[in-house]
Amino acid sequence: MKICFASGKGGTGKTLLATNLAVHLSRHFNQAAYLDADVEEPNGFLFLKPDLHTVDRVAVALPALRGDSCSGCGACQRFCAFNAVLAHGDDVLVFSELCHNCGGCLLVCPEQALIELPREVGTLSWGELNGLICGAGRLDVGEPRAEPVIERLLERAPEARITVVDAAPGTSCSAVAAAKTAELLVLVTEPTPFGLHDLRLAVEMGRRLELPLAAVINRADLGDDTVRAYLEREGVRILGEIPFRREIAEAYSRGALALEVSPKLRRTVETLAREVIRAL
Ligand code: SF4
Ligand code: SF4
Repeated sequence: MKICFASGKGGTGKTLLATNLAVHLSRHFNQAAYLDADVEEPNGFLFLKPDLHTVDRVAVALPALRGDSCSGCGACQRFCAFNAVLAHGDDVLVFSELCHNCGGCLLVCPEQALIELPREVGTLSWGELNGLICGAGRLDVGEPRAEPVIERLLERAPEARITVVDAAPGTSCSAVAAAKTAELLVLVTEPTPFGLHDLRLAVEMGRRLELPLAAVINRADLGDDTVRAYLEREGVRILGEIPFRREIAEAYSRGALALEVSPKLRRTVETLAREVIRAL
């Protein structure tokens, strides 16, 4: 079972919820896992502080010209949908920032003049916290595409009965890559006009991916009821609400697990865990 936590915008409390829920689930289920798929800014381990045991590098395959066998036919350039290849005379330039590593240019080359060379783009860290399997991806500085690191994180994660995936905020390719294989997409939002605006985008993303949707409202005692009314209209079940409490914000700012210090949040997480299991 894979539950992905996403949000239309940053700062809604997605990581707060994902880390605390993962710890709670691991105490009640054998083999729970937490995967930090927000690879451009992974911060889940600041709260979990797992014992790290393995660090893997992630590489993608990048086309490169082999020797002087290019005839200059231009088939690779015409094929590439991402304008990542420039064929000029009998030379070929590959723009690594645009390449999606599909391998298509190698297949259409009549001279077999192209080969694939590995290019490292990120890191996966693996650890454990009292039985909770912990994994986190980190994109190398300057690399433009996060999806390969996210996809490797999900592929290489050890089997677990329940896996909590902490996606990147927003509705970009990174969020889609983290969410697309989930059994349940939980959208974390807040009852403000900004929250509603970005929630609409996140709901649309979930619908396009044809995923079952649910929502959690953070800082639920602020703002108004428009977010609740919107979720009701859209048929998105509200699994729970987290109140705006200073003790939760203080724990978060110290890098502590909020459920250890806030009985209110602990009860909310317990309820959420039951609701999440029921919704799966
Ligand atoms: S591997 Fe795919 S995306 Fe990359 S240059 Fe070749 S055709 Fe374009
Ligand atoms: S398809 Fe092959 S032969 Fe043609 S330009 Fe590209 S690399 Fe050269």
